[in-house]
Amino acid sequence: MNAKTLYDMFSASFEAVGVIDTKTYVEEANKMHRDIPEVIYPTMVVLGLAYPKRFMKHTKTHLYPSFYTFGSDYHQVLKSRMESVLKETDLSYALAVDNHPHDERLAAVLGGLGFFGKNQLIIHPEHGTYMFLGIVFIDVKIDKPYVLEVTDDCGTCRKCIDACPTHALDEGYDMNKCMSHFNQSKRDLTDDEVDANYSLFGCDICQMVCPKNIKKGVLTHPEFMLSGKEAVSILDLFQDSEKVFREKYKDMSYLWKGKTILMRNAVCLLYKQNNTLYNDLIEASLEKLTTPWYVETTTRLLARLKHME
Ligand code: SF4
Ligand code: SF4
Repeated sequence: MNAKTLYDMFSASFEAVGVIDTKTYVEEANKMHRDIPEVIYPTMVVLGLAYPKRFMKHTKTHLYPSFYTFGSDYHQVLKSRMESVLKETDLSYALAVDNHPHDERLAAVLGGLGFFGKNQLIIHPEHGTYMFLGIVFIDVKIDKPYVLEVTDDCGTCRKCIDACPTHALDEGYDMNKCMSHFNQSKRDLTDDEVDANYSLFGCDICQMVCPKNIKKGVLTHPEFMLSGKEAVSILDLFQDSEKVFREKYKDMSYLWKGKTILMRNAVCLLYKQNNTLYNDLIEASLEKLTTPWYVETTTRLLARLKHME
């Protein structure tokens, strides 16, 4: 099959498309000592779907996650768009969207979707870092790759390195220091981590400061329109059961690790707001929840919140 044909098929539904052969991807991943699984499909289509930049401020009653979680869950949105394209064909395929063992950023660079920024994100010429990535492995051989040329790079800029509050970008990338990693981890947070954390889930700082993102992040696909569920009610977090909360906030990607992580992060934010309005509810949550990392962080911060009363 002609790679340009695949490119055109997907271009109607995605802002960025690259068609590469899997062999090249595997060779490059091996050179970089990346531990990727074996792939039987000879061709990869690497896709980027733009999402909008939005910033919401926490209030005394509602807290916000990173804006990439606003709108419908991007995993489902990408899969559904990929499947709509593929159902018009008789191709055999496999999909990979986030939470998979492949290196989609390497695939995106090889696919010409953008360059790899010092903030560890792919930077697309028109959409900056505001793009979700996904891969379709296809069981058809292509004659040669179809990839757009990328000539830009970070140059001498280091704004994201200097702006990162946890110094996670000081020497390459230290995942363990990254807020977006630790506020999604099921563990007790240290006092330094609590102090650094400003979000209910994730972190947007190294995207917000990037000069390559100026005037980017404006395209809103219908799936990423605001639904109201991006504002998480603190009452819902501490009063609702996991089941009721999941039903109320259905389709939001910040739910993928469950409600307890959001509760722990909410306690951190309430502590930083000096917001003692929910002390009784937090205390009651400790009588019901025995998850050790939740109990450890929450007990420590609740004692301090009580001193503020
Ligand atoms: S996501 Fe936040 S903590 Fe992580 S590297 Fe970027 S600025 Fe630093
Ligand atoms: S802030 Fe500067 S160094 Fe960081 S990714 Fe953007 S352009 Fe590159």
